Amino acid sequence: MNAPICESCGMPMESPEMFGGGRTDNRYCVYCTDEKGDLKPFDLKLEEMTRFTMTRMGMDETRARQVSREQMLKQPAWAHLA
Ligand SMILES: [Zn+2]
Repeated sequence: MNAPICESCGMPMESPEMFGGGRTDNRYCVYCTDEKGDLKPFDLKLEEMTRFTMTRMGMDETRARQVSREQMLKQPAWAHLA
């Protein structure tokens, strides 16, 4: 069985605890949702992705935010904002 892909960040959800709210029918991962399993607002998720990208890729904030935004807008959850 292929792991479902989070429709917000594109991450494979390979175990039940990686699904938002621990529900395996959730289309979004635990990192993209609040404690109830509801999708976080775009701006909040963008901030988290930006910080992650800065740390992970060693980018400055402006570049990291641009890359994160482009990445997010390719995902089904945010495509309507592109
Ligand atoms: Zn996600």
